[in-house]
Amino acid sequence: MSKILEACPNFIGGEWIESKTARTPVFNPSIGEVIAECPVGNLADANSGVEAAQNAFPAWMETPPVERARILGRFKMLLEENFEDIVRCNTREHGKTLGESRGDVKRGMEVIEFALGVPSLMMGEVLENIARGIDCEAIRQPLGVCVGITPFNFPAMVPLWMYPIAIACGNTFVLKPSEKVPLTAIKIAKLLEKSGLPKGVLNIVHGGREVVDALLTHPKVKAISFVGSTPIARYIYETGTKHGKRVQSNGGAKNFTLLMPDADVENSVRGVIEGAFGCAGERCMAGSTAVVVGGAEKNVLPALIEATRKIKVGPTDRETQPDMGAVITRQHRDRVLELIEAGVREGAKIPADGRGVKVSEAPNGFYVGATILDRVETGMTVAKEEIFGPVLNVMHMDDLDKAIELANKSFYGNGASIFTRSGKAAREFKHRINCGMVGINIGVPASMAWFPFNGWNESFFGDLHMQGREGVQFFTQQKVTTSRWFSYGEGDIWHK
Ligand code: NAD
Repeated sequence: MSKILEACPNFIGGEWIESKTARTPVFNPSIGEVIAECPVGNLADANSGVEAAQNAFPAWMETPPVERARILGRFKMLLEENFEDIVRCNTREHGKTLGESRGDVKRGMEVIEFALGVPSLMMGEVLENIARGIDCEAIRQPLGVCVGITPFNFPAMVPLWMYPIAIACGNTFVLKPSEKVPLTAIKIAKLLEKSGLPKGVLNIVHGGREVVDALLTHPKVKAISFVGSTPIARYIYETGTKHGKRVQSNGGAKNFTLLMPDADVENSVRGVIEGAFGCAGERCMAGSTAVVVGGAEKNVLPALIEATRKIKVGPTDRETQPDMGAVITRQHRDRVLELIEAGVREGAKIPADGRGVKVSEAPNGFYVGATILDRVETGMTVAKEEIFGPVLNVMHMDDLDKAIELANKSFYGNGASIFTRSGKAAREFKHRINCGMVGINIGVPASMAWFPFNGWNESFFGDLHMQGREGVQFFTQQKVTTSRWFSYGEGDIWHK
């Protein structure tokens, strides 16, 4: 008997509509089974999403920011009420643990909390008497139709980085979720629909490249927010800007964690484990390279290896939770395994080896065990490629200067952390490290909603980052009015 698959409709102008295009499987990575089929989408799907958003824009733009914020307030309450349901959907299609899914949804909800402040956030500036009798004011207005294209690794959080701020500012939105994890985005959008959002303000169009290209070049689209791998992020930025759009495009990363000889062993091991193996390493903020500085080789590394060997991998779609779940697809698992092989072939040691991991309760899941590749050198494939799996590269340096120099050679620039008891070392690191998010005794220094998610270098293409005030700036354009009023004799009337 064939299994009943979950529906994966588009959301266009307030209607849930099945796309007529071919389908691609959505897996539960814990057990390796298909749970839904996502449409591959086409030009017509994309056009209908943009048209619905364009039709909804004039009325939504005129809706007072206070009223827009109230709808988001109801949305936030519904997310709280349905929290566990969304968490389980997220885990089922992604494979991360329930605890990690809770973090995924919570981080997204914080963006809504931020966006609720839109009446203050959109306030402009006024200067009276910029010249004699002349006043000047700058106000913020929405752009129009905005588009979001999102990756598989944070099915709840990343779409929520984008549309709550966009719609709070009076824009309408077309979301193209990852075809690997379309279900959480649908579930969350149903709650926004229930919150009283007018039809067409948020639309969802599923699909792949054809849909993305149609959205990128559509004349009615004003702005594109993208999160995904660096080659696609660059492509989105170049194509979008060439077609006159405002673009913010987040790419991949390889983040360094420096372990100083004076690091607190327990806290630093916990931080590095969380950074490297949290979400099975499928995080743009994964601390995928640990740089062991001087005596940390003896003080910290043995405990790190021991803790890594103890990480239990298994299915997450049930009550008993492992430490770490599966990776997203069979193909991705094979790629991660190939990269580990390349590391070993090119000379790395493998003190924690997750290649042969067996998960008896779910033999068809997409598993890789937690792995450490030690003595990684800069020229190795694993030092250059974003592995995006549960693999920690360990490099060795004599001192802080050399460790910073090594990290600064990376062409990415999302995050970097240091574990130390020395304020001086931490200050030096913070000042000199070449990336946008810095952690001091923190494993994953990802910015929260009130601050920009701040990639540098090849981890970001654009000018204004997602989240925080930069998010509001991205989704609004300023209008500056300079005014002078002459007297036409009204003074006589006023004096009557
Ligand atoms: P991906 O680049 O494969 O896909 C991202 C999105 O782009 C998806 O919606 C996909 O459908 C679309 N896409 C894929 N190929 C395309 C093409 N040729 N043309 C047009 N669109 C295309 O990324 P992924 O595998 O889903 O996600 C993992 C990547 O995302 C990692 O590199 C990770 O570091 C990165 N990421 C970055 C951040 C950040 O903020 N910097 C956050 C999360 C994930």
